Amino acid sequence: MAAPTPSRTTLPPSPTRRILLVDADAFFVAVARLVDPEGAGKARLLIVGGAPGSRGVVCSASYETRQYGVRSAMPIARALRLCPQATCVPVPRGACGRKSREISAVLHRFAPVVQAASIDEWYLDVSGTEALYHDAPLAEVAHRIRDAVREETGLSVSLGGGTNKLVAKLAVEFAKPKPGTAGNGVFIVPPGGEADFLQQVPLADIPGVGPRLRDRLEALGLRSTPDVLAVGLPTLQRMLGERGGHWLFDRARGIGSSEVIPREQAKSVSHEDTFHHDLNDDDALEVELVRLVTRVASDLRSKGLAARTISVKLKDADFRTRGASRTLEEPVVADRVILATARELLQRLRGARRTPARLLGVALSGLGEGEEAEQLSLFGEESAPALRETARDRALATAIDALRAKFGAGAIVPGRLAMREGEPEAPSASPAAGARPPTPAPGARRSGR
Ligand SMILES: [Mg+2]
Repeated sequence: MAAPTPSRTTLPPSPTRRILLVDADAFFVAVARLVDPEGAGKARLLIVGGAPGSRGVVCSASYETRQYGVRSAMPIARALRLCPQATCVPVPRGACGRKSREISAVLHRFAPVVQAASIDEWYLDVSGTEALYHDAPLAEVAHRIRDAVREETGLSVSLGGGTNKLVAKLAVEFAKPKPGTAGNGVFIVPPGGEADFLQQVPLADIPGVGPRLRDRLEALGLRSTPDVLAVGLPTLQRMLGERGGHWLFDRARGIGSSEVIPREQAKSVSHEDTFHHDLNDDDALEVELVRLVTRVASDLRSKGLAARTISVKLKDADFRTRGASRTLEEPVVADRVILATARELLQRLRGARRTPARLLGVALSGLGEGEEAEQLSLFGEESAPALRETARDRALATAIDALRAKFGAGAIVPGRLAMREGEPEAPSASPAAGARPPTPAPGARRSGR
């Protein structure tokens, strides 16, 4: 992919923010090489995700391996049929969490506001630091950050930059120093160049445009960003609804949120939803529970953490709030065990008082590094009781995260939710680029985003 050259100014350079997205290059592969210099470190053809012969899936593969057709979320066995010479290693979860924190520490020195978007992605707002950097152009600041991260952590990062998170997120793809591209690690879209830049971005790359929305747009004859702009806002709104049309029209012109929310590693990870209408049906509540667990478990893993305590909160229609929690013997990271536990807790709460509910919440606490879960699970494989996590649970979770990072949260939806999810899709899993979906799913939520 040739690096695009943003040029003509088509947008007023409104209050100009300086936003960077820092994205670690092939993070899992790079960390696997650092922790195992003799094995993984020497393997040009490297697959991270599981041992050969395991039933796991590919979490990440080196660029060289990808040339054989190996992709994230592919079963290891299939990946090895495509590239039999490849070395396969498990995900070094704990080391990934540690390296992620090391990178984050470097970034905090350079930017007043840092938002961790996933284990290997951070948004920085460096607006107002011009004096600090003696008015250095954003590209120069980005290169300095890149050099410091490499020097202090041994890892390579790429940086995309612009006036908002959407543009920064898309720009980083042009920055990646992939073989055969012009990427040199930094790509900045100048203020006013957003719309021109977006013309060079495939529609499907826009965060929030998942496979289903992409197919739907294609069916409407919209294959590229210029196609979207050409039909105009009123037509788009007729096709996708008022909000949906507006959302896509803005994205296609490079308009997005600039709000970088300072976020550190949490003591607990939680989500809650207040319903549009009070829910009294157990099946409906369970659908909401699955939705919450899916989000909260994915957040947990994106931080490289594992949790031992699972809590469910229910607020009844009369505003009485009740909660239940359970601490497991071993820390977990995957959806299955968290959901099984949360379901049991919800049933307990509902059994004690069956009255319409206005809010449901799920929280994970007792957080530790993911590596602990990885090691402990080695002992739990034969019996695999419902509340003990297996390597397969984690491999599946990792695969889902990889797909979500690529296609957005709508890409993988638990079966129970699939028929309820509306188009366009849920927001991207990495809280990227302020990419709110145009239409909330037609579920019962009133807030919670
Ligand atoms: Mg990355």
